[in-house]
Amino acid sequence: MANDCIFCRIVAGELPATIVYQDDEVTAFNDINPQASTHVLVIPNQHITSLNDAEETDPALLGRLLQVAAKVARDAGLAESGYRVVTNTGPDSGQTVFHLHFHVLGGNPLRLPLG
Ligand code: 5GP
Ligand code: ZN
Repeated sequence: MANDCIFCRIVAGELPATIVYQDDEVTAFNDINPQASTHVLVIPNQHITSLNDAEETDPALLGRLLQVAAKVARDAGLAESGYRVVTNTGPDSGQTVFHLHFHVLGGNPLRLPLG
């Protein structure tokens, strides 16, 4: 755990969040500043800075994150209407929290913001 990382602190229960899914490896919680009707963040419980660390990360964990993203979307009723899963990596992407996270967005038609 990185003590100065807000997402590590959410996993540890030190900061409040509306958690919609959690297991030994993965936590999913509502984004504090939602950009769609449903906006959930899916994160590994262990601190991984970004997708730049993917090659040093257990591929099973990376796969599990996407499985949980799909489960969260299904549980939110988005399987038919559709949703978007996106991860920002580095400065040009607008990444603001440097703990890997997948945004799950849906519940209304989405534009593709390219900045
Ligand atoms: P990024 O811009 O790094 O891809 O996304 C970070 C996301 O984390 C943003 O959508 C932001 O609203 C969300 N966020 C930042 N701080 C907190 C927090 O303390 N709690 C929750 N639930 N979401 C947060
Ligand atoms: Zn962290």
